Amino acid sequence: MRQDATAPARDLGVYVQVPFCQAKCTYCNFSTGVFPRKNFRPYVASVCREIGEHASLYRAEGLAAWQQEPPPFAADTVYVGGGTPSLLEPEDLGAILEAVRSAFGGAATEVTLEADPETVTEEKAGAWREAGFNRISLGAQSFADPELAGVGRRHRRADIFAAARHLSAAGLGNISFDLIAGLPGQTADSWSGSLDELLSLVPAHISIYLLEIDEGSRLGREALAGGRRYGAPALPDDDAAAEYYDLACARLLDRGYEHYEISNWALPGFRSRHNRKYWRREPYLGFGAGAHSFDGVERWANTHDPAVYVAAIGERRLALDERGRVSKVQALEEELFLGLRMLDGIDLGEVERRYGVDLSDRVRSLAEEGLVEWTGTTLRLAPARLTVSNEVLVRLLPGEEMPGTSRATV
Ligand code: SF4
Repeated sequence: MRQDATAPARDLGVYVQVPFCQAKCTYCNFSTGVFPRKNFRPYVASVCREIGEHASLYRAEGLAAWQQEPPPFAADTVYVGGGTPSLLEPEDLGAILEAVRSAFGGAATEVTLEADPETVTEEKAGAWREAGFNRISLGAQSFADPELAGVGRRHRRADIFAAARHLSAAGLGNISFDLIAGLPGQTADSWSGSLDELLSLVPAHISIYLLEIDEGSRLGREALAGGRRYGAPALPDDDAAAEYYDLACARLLDRGYEHYEISNWALPGFRSRHNRKYWRREPYLGFGAGAHSFDGVERWANTHDPAVYVAAIGERRLALDERGRVSKVQALEEELFLGLRMLDGIDLGEVERRYGVDLSDRVRSLAEEGLVEWTGTTLRLAPARLTVSNEVLVRLLPGEEMPGTSRATV
C-alpha cells in the first residue's frame, strides 16, 4: 500500500543498542559482553549507516510497510541503551544522535542515555548534554557495596552520588535510577537503606526490577543447578523479594511518586515517554546488534552478534535473528500483556470491540478474586496484588486462535 505523502508523520521511538560492557555482571541475561575498545568506533559507524540507510535496508529485507514510500515517521523519543553506552566516547554518541536527527528529524523531546555510575565524569556529562541528551538512566542497582561487589558491578555507593552530582551540574538532572530487588545478600534492612539513599537524591524517575533467575545468567544457572561461586545460596527467597517490592511501593507512594507501570515510578511530569511506546504498541525502530523494532505491522530483531551485525551492514544488508508479522491473536495478547503493565489500565471495551472478543468471564473471575479492578470499561491490575501480575496476565490471555486469524512468523 502506498503511503499518503500528505499524511502527518507518526511519532516514532528510536532505540539504539550498544552491547559493550566493562565486565559481565553475574545476574545479566542480556546479549552484551566485554569487547576491546577498538571495536567501538566501527560499531558506531555501522549504527550510523543503518540509521541513515534504514529505508533501503528495510525495503531490501522485504518488510511490508517499507516496500514503497517509507512511512512518514518523526522521532519524538530516542533511547540509547545497552550494555553500557556511556563507555563510548561522547563524540561517538553525538554522531549517533546526529544520524537520528538527519534520518528522523530533530524534534525529539526525550533523549535518554543509559549510564553506569562509574563511567560518569563532569566532562562527559557536559558533553552528553551538549550532544543533545536530556535524560539519563543510571544503573544504580543497590546502595550496599557488598551487594554491588557480589554481583560483579564495577561501581560502589559513592560512585552513584558522584554521578548524580556531575549530571545535575551539567544540566542533566532528569535522572532515572534503577534498583534491583532480590540481589544475593540483600536483607530487609539493606533494601530499606537503599531506598532511603535513593530517595535522598530525589530522583525524577525510578525503575525497580525483581532479579530474574533463569538459565541466561551465571547466577541464575547456579541458583537452578546448585553451587556457591556467585552467591546463589544468599539469594532472598521469592516471599522476601515480594516484600521488598511492596515496601518500595509504599515508600515511594508516600514520597509523592506516581506508580505508573509495574516496575516504574515517576514524579509528576517525569514518566518515560519512550518506554510507554512499548507498552502501548506504538511504533519504534531499533538500531544496532540485538535491537528490536515494531512498525505497527511487523516485529523484527537484528542479530545479537556485533561482528555479524557490522559485517552485514558493511554489505548493505540486515542480519536478522527474528522477524514476524503480528497476527491478530498476537496483537490482542500484546494489548493485554503490555497494556496492563501500566497501572492506569486499558479500555477493555475498546479492546474487545477492536478484536471481536468477549473476555468478560475471565475478567469477572479475576475481579471476584481481587486480582483486577474493573470499573466501567476500564480494566487494571489491583494495585495491592502486583506481585502476582504474571499469573493474572496468563489467565487473561485467549490461549487459542480466534476465528479468522492465524499466527504468521517468517
Ligand atoms: S552492565 Fe548491564 S548489560 Fe552490562 S553486564 Fe551488567 S547488567 Fe548486563
